[in-house]
Amino acid sequence: MARLSNSMTGLVNFSNKPHSAELRELPVPQANEEEALVAVKAVGICGSDIHQYEGTHSWRVNYPVVLGHEFSGVIAKVGSRVRGFQEGESVVSETAAVLPLDSPFIRQGLYNLEPKRLGFGYGVDGAMAAFVRVPARCLHRLPASLSFEKAALTEPCCVAYQAVCVNSRPRPGDTVAVIGPGPIGLLCALMAKLAGAGHLLVVGIPADARRLEIARQIGADTTLCTQEENVVDWAKNFGDGYGVDLVIDAAGVSASLKLALDVVRPAGQITKVGWGPQPFNYSLDPLVQKAVTLQGSFSHNWDTWETVISLLDTGKIDLDLILNRVAPLTEWRELFEAMHSGEIVKGVLNP
Ligand SMILES: [Zn+2]
Repeated sequence: MARLSNSMTGLVNFSNKPHSAELRELPVPQANEEEALVAVKAVGICGSDIHQYEGTHSWRVNYPVVLGHEFSGVIAKVGSRVRGFQEGESVVSETAAVLPLDSPFIRQGLYNLEPKRLGFGYGVDGAMAAFVRVPARCLHRLPASLSFEKAALTEPCCVAYQAVCVNSRPRPGDTVAVIGPGPIGLLCALMAKLAGAGHLLVVGIPADARRLEIARQIGADTTLCTQEENVVDWAKNFGDGYGVDLVIDAAGVSASLKLALDVVRPAGQITKVGWGPQPFNYSLDPLVQKAVTLQGSFSHNWDTWETVISLLDTGKIDLDLILNRVAPLTEWRELFEAMHSGEIVKGVLNP
């Protein structure tokens, strides 16, 4: 391994004011004995990175912090107590960078739900930099078939897999509606197809026109725009008219749950994976009357990562239509804006 230089460039989010991110020269982080230092090869831009950049996020950020939590890279150094990983290996990383060791959720394998966990890109320095330090327990080995750019999207694929295939129980042939065709919504549509969805509906707003087109290309049978079409009427006129079996609510607002409740069939399921801090103001009576199973889905854990890596490795998840642009880290602003405007679904940066 070549000797590491002492400094690197990283994209730092430095305050909660809008547009407070910039490239800065930073010291290369030091991995402790249970960590690996990963040379980042590719890092995906997440909606949460854009929210922090815009100052519209609803979570606590430890400023200043290097953005980025969807990444792949090569191990540049391993700590003395790390077993099973070596310098030079290609890896991807989970996101729960810091966990309280006494968390009961670790014992249950549900560390993704530990409220005190800190993640890359907001709690600790993330991967929009040449190097990032990563606890060895977060690492997964990367198959040679996968490009670093596609591998960087393992994390959002895991979010979608957890929502559709772990926290929902779709049966082959079930009608599935995805509300919100952002990156996570489109990946949820891909997962629904993998899980054997029957008719697949994707619902968006006018700003989603480009994303709805991609939804059709990845196999949605119907796409609807809420401002132009009445989604509830569509559901009433579809099939037996009782509604859809499973709704995946991937919109970044609470209000979309109302639409989910309106279109789900009695005894159906709703899984909410998109979130936003705004309150909602409507009755939950349909939840009761239809005896709907309403389920939240947050993050992912170890076995979801291994499964998704295998699905990516075997080409069962095809990211060609989702990953629309790759650029050097210096062009971060253009890519953030292209994603924010809906011009591209997903951008990946090479630090
Ligand atoms: Zn993300």
